[in-house]
Amino acid sequence: MLRLSQFPFKTLKSAPKVSDNHSTSLLLQGGYIRQAMAGAYEFLPIGHRVLRNIEQVIREEMDAAGYHEMLMTILTPREMWEITGRWDIPEYFKVPGWGDTEYRIAPTNEENVTPILGEFIQSYKDLPTCVYHIQKKFRNEKRAKSGLLRGREFIMKDAYSFHASREDFDKFYADVKQVYLRCFERLGLGADTVIADADGGAISDMNSHEFQTYLEVGEDIIVSDSSGYCYNLELASGIPDDKNSSEEVRLMEYIDTVPDIVNMEKMTKYFGAPDWQMLKTVIYKLQDSWKYVGVVIRWDLDVNEIKFGKFIRNIYAESFMLASEADLETLWTVRGFISPLKDSQLQVEFYGDESLKTVKNFFWGANTLAKSTKNVNIEDLDIKEFWDFSEPKEWFLSRNVSGEKLVFKRASEVGNIFHLGTKYSKPFGLSFTDENNQLNDVVEMGCYGIGVSRLMGVMAEYFMTERGIMWPENIAPYTHYIIVMGEEHISRAEELAWSLETQGYSVILDDRVGRKDGFGQKAGDCELWGIPNRIVLSSKTLEQGGYELLTRGGESKIVGL
Ligand code: ATP
Ligand code: MG
Repeated sequence: MLRLSQFPFKTLKSAPKVSDNHSTSLLLQGGYIRQAMAGAYEFLPIGHRVLRNIEQVIREEMDAAGYHEMLMTILTPREMWEITGRWDIPEYFKVPGWGDTEYRIAPTNEENVTPILGEFIQSYKDLPTCVYHIQKKFRNEKRAKSGLLRGREFIMKDAYSFHASREDFDKFYADVKQVYLRCFERLGLGADTVIADADGGAISDMNSHEFQTYLEVGEDIIVSDSSGYCYNLELASGIPDDKNSSEEVRLMEYIDTVPDIVNMEKMTKYFGAPDWQMLKTVIYKLQDSWKYVGVVIRWDLDVNEIKFGKFIRNIYAESFMLASEADLETLWTVRGFISPLKDSQLQVEFYGDESLKTVKNFFWGANTLAKSTKNVNIEDLDIKEFWDFSEPKEWFLSRNVSGEKLVFKRASEVGNIFHLGTKYSKPFGLSFTDENNQLNDVVEMGCYGIGVSRLMGVMAEYFMTERGIMWPENIAPYTHYIIVMGEEHISRAEELAWSLETQGYSVILDDRVGRKDGFGQKAGDCELWGIPNRIVLSSKTLEQGGYELLTRGGESKIVGL
């Protein structure tokens, strides 16, 4: 039982305006959390109970599925990260030890779990197996924001599975999706949590899915249609609107223009044509071979660098960066006038976005200052291959349902599951003996994350009302809140609290007496903390025959003591 007369963590009179979302203000007002610094929060007693309840739902589902809970270290040895080539990732913290020693505080635990399981997986009989833990994680996020939604220190449930074959992994992966959906269902988020496909599509065989909860303040945008298509905007694809593709193709002409038409406003004015009738050319330099590659796209659309990256890495297995002004000079072209015209012979391999097929007779540059072209068509361009490189806009049509517009919704990623293949099992040398007593060194792995502390932030935002957070009953910090009015009734209330606790409920006894502790204050705290059952015990209710019980969503009634 929590006696408020002995509880120092008082709520605040009003919600402090500190964050970019209102639920964080409510969490601060209710004394659930305090900020230690940007991206790091302390969980105070009330908040800690909410967090534990969320963890418990997840733990129960993991246990029911037969995954084994363990607890791995936060402080991890550098050597393990060197084995997997992940020591130098800037988003992962390094901490100094004595002398030259350096450690890592873990952002994820593949480097812990793989060698441990390597010791225990001996035969095919040990597979499949899955372990999980609920533990703090540390990431040097560029921008910590939105309270618990993006921290540098946060709590994650991460699970790791090991398999004797790809088929076995696939089956397991499908089951994990169901386990995850049950978790979000039990947390009250089921109706608004979707599985977004996050694989690389045709050009990647890595499987990954995100669990996204629709939320106005979420950082991600989820694109879907009625066929069940559901993708993160980062990878989504749709059909750009047709502009004038039925127009007759005219002959390309070079024209003299002026040097300063390098932005869209000036160009549309100068040419007297809409922005979609201009082209945009983006040039990248490959990091190892220094080869130049470019994307050509309709001006009103943007190149999605994640899509382009996947595409180009499939051809060149190199990373790339945006070409600099100096790079363009060596290529004999000028920013704002770069144009992949057939006769310009730029030393660039150009790829075209499919949107180019929706427009005829473009206006564009001619690789020289103040020289332009008009009536440019695909036939005039030196394009190696067409692909979908654009980021869908809200007016794009679905590729699956003819004539249907894509739906865009903000969401927060509450979980993410991945096929890891042998990315970690190979470097750590995992193997097992198969049914024929042969050594097999292909151990398939998967990993499965749920953002536990982020979920608390998501739920706070999802369930907030004007005056508090209406946590689902299984998550609320306590089940009952007893408001006692009048010191003389405290011992009666205490008895009631004990009796409720022996029935398995958890009780806050608001036995505060004082000038400021009127009914309004008490009822306000009850609401701020989202306690589903409110009891009032006062002379008036006793006269009526007992205490007043108000259950969430119900009518208040008098219950005999
Ligand atoms: P994000 O795309 O949001 O940065 P991520 O894909 O890097 O997340 P994962 O490595 O997939 O994250 O981690 C598993 C889960 O942990 C995520 O789905 C998310 O719910 C949670 N999580 C990740 N980063 C953070 C963070 N900085 N703060 C709070 N929760 C986080
Ligand atoms: Mg993720």
